[in-house]
Amino acid sequence: MITYEHSVYLDTPKCNGCTTCLKHCPTQAIRIRDGHAVINQERCIDCGECIRVCPNSAKKAKCKKLDEMDKFKWKIALPAPTLYGQFDNLDDIDYVLDGLLKIGFDDVFEVSAAAELVSAYTRSYLKNTDIKRPVISSACPVVIRLISLRFPSLKDNILNILPPMEIAADLARKKAKREHPELKDDEIGVCFISPCPAKVSYVRNGFGDYKSKVDIVVSIKDIYFQLISAMKYGSEVKSMSNSGMIGIGWASSGGEATAIFNEKYLAADGIDNIIRVLDQIENGNIPPLEFIELNGCTGGCVGGVLTIQNPFIAKARLQSLRRYLPVSQNFISKDDESIPQEILFDEIPVYKPISRLSDSMSESIRMMSEIQKLKDELPGIDCGSCGAPSCRAFAEDVVKREANLDDCLIRQHRLKEGAGGNDG
Ligand code: SF4
Ligand code: SF4
Repeated sequence: MITYEHSVYLDTPKCNGCTTCLKHCPTQAIRIRDGHAVINQERCIDCGECIRVCPNSAKKAKCKKLDEMDKFKWKIALPAPTLYGQFDNLDDIDYVLDGLLKIGFDDVFEVSAAAELVSAYTRSYLKNTDIKRPVISSACPVVIRLISLRFPSLKDNILNILPPMEIAADLARKKAKREHPELKDDEIGVCFISPCPAKVSYVRNGFGDYKSKVDIVVSIKDIYFQLISAMKYGSEVKSMSNSGMIGIGWASSGGEATAIFNEKYLAADGIDNIIRVLDQIENGNIPPLEFIELNGCTGGCVGGVLTIQNPFIAKARLQSLRRYLPVSQNFISKDDESIPQEILFDEIPVYKPISRLSDSMSESIRMMSEIQKLKDELPGIDCGSCGAPSCRAFAEDVVKREANLDDCLIRQHRLKEGAGGNDG
């Protein structure tokens, strides 16, 4: 079993224990203890929902600051395609790429260019007859962690091609070495500009044995104002962008799936929706499909909590930006569609499933029946005043000795009332 280093954390002094995040966490990872939120590290999938809903900005994501790139001699920016949707009236991606050079990067490698390669390799992968279908996209780290924690039976359905960010990092490093052979490996720094905290966690944890080739992740939010002041619309800029419609499309839900050029696909976004889809795949309750694209954030990566712009506006901007682009600018040879070994990963990491109560099966069954019995005795109103998101979760905490039955104030009150009635 592997431990996981998270990016989402609580700024404790800012939290007043209001319970908003408690009710929105999709994996019931949050409890209120001693007046503030506590995140269960084993359950958290770094989806960022708690960051999105906290009225006091007490939930945050641990990103790096741009000046941490100063330690590298050659600095490469990897902009996520979502970045292009953050700017009003942008009609040429090169203004963004030029802005990145102006704020201190030596080179830029677009993640959307690598995404076009992943689309091409996915089309080739889907020609295999011996793979488990439907194939589930591996691009959203929230989905990967959710599957490993809650739907481990679906892990063989995951496309075992590394996500575009990793392929971009690898290609960017190779390009730097090619163009500047004098650079040593540790003098090249790769910085991903991220829309979401899950990608920050992915870089820290990698994929099982696979270590990320990205050195630093900064958020779109953190870089936005510096970048917008450096961008000069209408000025002469070098032609650098190497993305087509497919690559830019990856920023929004459905963009990856439509690029497989096969109508037997499903694309779902938003954490509750993807959980429903995974449930249905696990129960065999879906039509025969080739490919499933799932994004933890509503609208896809444009809905990430580390972005600036409303996801629907960002999506509309990207649609107009895509209009004049070629379908793709990154292809694989028709004569050799084999997928290079270095962009494949073997297995997704295996974590302790969140549904497992104990390592012993008989003990788990005993605990399950105790939880059910206790839940039936609780008020059943899921008020959250005990510090757990539901009466079922509270019953589980009590049985696991992580909470005290007296923490349910409604039950306490009813017991007192009952005792008073008997006295009278
Ligand atoms: S939403 Fe959660 S983190 Fe934010 S103040 Fe309320 S309890 Fe604390
Ligand atoms: S990041 Fe997501 S899974 Fe983790 S505590 Fe927040 S809402 Fe729950």
